[in-house]
Amino acid sequence: MSLPLRMFVDGCWVEAVSGRTFDSIDPYTGQPWAQVPEAGAADVDRAVAAARAAFDEGPWPRLAGVERARVIRRLARLLEEHAEELGVIEVRDNGKLLREMAGQAALLPEFYDYFAGAADKIGGEVLDSAKSNFFVYQLFEPVGVVGAITPWNSPLLLTAFKLAPALAAGCCFVHKPSEHTSVSALRFAEITAEAGVPDGVYNVVTGDGPNVGEPLVSHPGVDKVSFTGSVATGIRVSKAAAEHLAPVSLELGGKSPNIVFADADLEAAANGVVAGIFAACGQTCIAGSRLLVERPVHDELVERVVGRARDIILGNPMDPATEMGPLAYAAHWDKVMGYIDIGVAEGAELATGGRRPERFGDGLFVAPTVFCGVDNSMRIAREEIFGPVLSVIPFEGEAEALSIANDSPFGLAAGVWTRDVQRVHRMVRWLQAGTVWVNSYRTLNYDVPFGGYKMSGHGRENGLDGLREFLHTKSVWVEMSGATRDPFKLG
Ligand code: NAD
Repeated sequence: MSLPLRMFVDGCWVEAVSGRTFDSIDPYTGQPWAQVPEAGAADVDRAVAAARAAFDEGPWPRLAGVERARVIRRLARLLEEHAEELGVIEVRDNGKLLREMAGQAALLPEFYDYFAGAADKIGGEVLDSAKSNFFVYQLFEPVGVVGAITPWNSPLLLTAFKLAPALAAGCCFVHKPSEHTSVSALRFAEITAEAGVPDGVYNVVTGDGPNVGEPLVSHPGVDKVSFTGSVATGIRVSKAAAEHLAPVSLELGGKSPNIVFADADLEAAANGVVAGIFAACGQTCIAGSRLLVERPVHDELVERVVGRARDIILGNPMDPATEMGPLAYAAHWDKVMGYIDIGVAEGAELATGGRRPERFGDGLFVAPTVFCGVDNSMRIAREEIFGPVLSVIPFEGEAEALSIANDSPFGLAAGVWTRDVQRVHRMVRWLQAGTVWVNSYRTLNYDVPFGGYKMSGHGRENGLDGLREFLHTKSVWVEMSGATRDPFKLG
């Protein structure tokens, strides 16, 4: 029997207005394990009204920052206690490794602690204005009600990117998690209540994009939209929010280049390439899915990466020895396998993988896959696959590396592997990406801004840039001389 769950609105546990539910499927067993309310526009109305009232009349935005910080820190301590449990829930929902999801859950307290530390330092700033008869200052104020939409690949971590700064700023929040991974948000909601987050400040509505996500971002009661997901959905979300001119921040997909020069430490680079594409089965926005490798070391590096790919241990994501579990859901498995067929049809050379390993029957597994001889114009080099599929593209020299790296609709991240410090700075300067790792790959932290260039989105999460996404600037002019002035002239 699967676990029946309810949504969290205005501090209460509620069923969908329609009374309908849907199943959350465990991707490893293929079985339903939780029943989640299937919300609709009426449920969104209810949640937005609760957040609206909490923002317009409730205590949260009116508390001193230090008081909000206390609540956020209590939340962080409770998250520490529940990290393992939250990690297990996320594995059951998205099939990623327990070590990855429990590791992410263990990071959550750090995000909430960091932004708790910022909550009482928001204040404002006095300006030394040339209008010297005025005392001029700026206040930084919460933007209001946030409509937040998250994907399935790192549910609570990506929620923390949004919620931790939003809470610190004094905003109220309506969250729609992915329909594939709703359960952890509901358990998390319970923990926010225990921490003392006031009713209506954090609300969760569950269901799919068209019936819940779209009404949420279109809702005139939402002051700011914060979205993480695919480019196609990001565009739809932007258009819907534009109807009521709500500002939108978008964290979207990527096709990130991992660029290895001939002078690199090849062992470290191979390890970084494997981390970039096979960790989490490549189901990460920052996947280093294009390996750009300088010709003199091409064969040696490919041999190392292919060798490691063949040794990757596939299996039960709960097993500590497993390195890759199943993909998150059946339609996604179909999409990834479809891209492998496209790669073969485009003439790329399949160096390893490209199939479902037989021992998993019809489980959602994909063998770690490496395509060599890829041209950057092929679809497997241009489109986000979001699976364990690496496209290897050879290059000659720095200029060609940069030109291939930047010839992409995306600009989320890039890796550069070289021992030449001058080249490092030249590459970093011209790579069109929101994050560049040098001699490393796949590192993030609460205190470092993260976000994309080009079709990878706009706005930043984490660090103080992430906090500013949830703040308005109010400029205040206080006349000090007592003089009157020409009423028909701009002063
Ligand atoms: P998705 O776009 O299919 O769904 C994301 C969320 O949007 C889900 O909650 C979904 O229900 C909702 N949604 C769908 N249609 C909607 C609509 N019309 N209006 C409002 N909401 C709607 O993406 P996904 O498959 O869940 O996640 C994978 C994608 O997310 C990948 O492209 C990945 O790169 C991206 N991603 C980006 C980051 C980042 O920080 N840049 C992080 C993780 C994932």
